[in-house]
Amino acid sequence: MFGRNRERRERLEAQQRWEAWTAGHVEPPLGPDHQEPAAVPVVDDFLPPDLRMPTREELAGMLMAHDFPLVLDGEVRACSECGAYRKWIVVSTPDGVWLRCPAGHEQVEPRLDATWYNRMSGPTTGQHATYEECLRFLGH
Ligand SMILES: [Zn+2]
Repeated sequence: MFGRNRERRERLEAQQRWEAWTAGHVEPPLGPDHQEPAAVPVVDDFLPPDLRMPTREELAGMLMAHDFPLVLDGEVRACSECGAYRKWIVVSTPDGVWLRCPAGHEQVEPRLDATWYNRMSGPTTGQHATYEECLRFLGH
């Protein structure tokens, strides 16, 4: 019973922290209908070469959807390009862990690693021939 109460209190505190945080952050509009992601431009040559995703041939990574805000070092991780802070796709590759925001911005996140990824991800639910296919499967 005490354990349950503590769990509830921790959840409540997390919620309050989250609300305090969101009060100070405005997410870019997602379009008139929130269900439907706004038309996402295909961003290809957007990042400098050393920040690009590996090409399809090189990619032997794993992806998972992370719909909730990612808290790293006590801060909610926001996309440095557009400020989005949820509905990430997390990509684990031999080169490290990438984050992809709903608008398609991809950034390497050195504070995350394969160990973190494996802890967070559930069992593999499917295999996809291409990165794009997997993104579509995950709703991006
Ligand atoms: Zn972004």
